[in-house]
Amino acid sequence: MTNELTRDQAFFGFSPEAEPVLRVPQGEELHLTTHDCFSGQLKTTADTLATLDWSITNPATGPIYIEGTKPGDVLRIELHEVKAHGPSVMVAVPEVGALGHLITKEETVIVEHDGDSVVFKDRVRVKQKPMLGVIGVAPSEGTIPNSTPGGHGGNMDCTLVTSGASLYFTVGVEGALFGCGDMHAVMGDGEVVICGAETPGEVRLTPQVVDIPGLPTPFLENDEIVAVIASAETTDAAYKMAIDMMHAFLTKVAGFPNNDAALLMSLVGYLKFCQVVDPLMTVRFEFPKSVLADYGFSMPR
Ligand code: CA
Ligand code: ZN
Repeated sequence: MTNELTRDQAFFGFSPEAEPVLRVPQGEELHLTTHDCFSGQLKTTADTLATLDWSITNPATGPIYIEGTKPGDVLRIELHEVKAHGPSVMVAVPEVGALGHLITKEETVIVEHDGDSVVFKDRVRVKQKPMLGVIGVAPSEGTIPNSTPGGHGGNMDCTLVTSGASLYFTVGVEGALFGCGDMHAVMGDGEVVICGAETPGEVRLTPQVVDIPGLPTPFLENDEIVAVIASAETTDAAYKMAIDMMHAFLTKVAGFPNNDAALLMSLVGYLKFCQVVDPLMTVRFEFPKSVLADYGFSMPR
């Protein structure tokens, strides 16, 4: 198969000037492998952030030039499979993340994989729900480091970015220059200590431009819900952006009357944290597809 990339074909910032490592047509399935966010540098409990080469953290596999995409297009990335390879690694580091003020001793934990679970310190079994922390397209100008989320996607660390989900991005540059990585075998909402179960893995996906004028992006869809994902300097600014985005989707794309959109967001919507530890904070707003159907709307295929 030619639509393949390995984890060593990686980049560290979303940029319109980046040189693509693969050109693919729309509508065909791609198969990628991805590194963990440390590029596999933390292999044992003795490996710490002190010895880390920071220049190769947060790699994303790509960039991939998707033929026939141009600025302003809405690009759908259908995630058929997000599969963790393991083992995973976690780190607790003083003064890092939302809990850093409570951490006094640095620790690296290797989290082994066993079947479809991960095992924390031989004590806690957690069912895997592999997800991609970093996924997105190049912005129209400037370079955005992979550590940082934004309107282009990037390091959103959203637990919904998993098998069966579709992500929607607004293309910033011809070819889109798509990439993804930073897989977590499982992660809690918030990612409070600064990591999930950071793992290498593999992804099967299909890119396709879709005709949904005015769709607020980044946007996500799975069998049950649609969601908007918003990143800003504070969680307050991010949640305000998220609710405005969802209201815009419901009224301008799905055709809800203004007050119905607002009332139903308050009745059946869910405002949730994605992460509170990256350079910007990320929040999502979820809305049930069944209520879209009640208003005669379904996502165009
Ligand atoms: Ca991340
Ligand atoms: Zn990560």
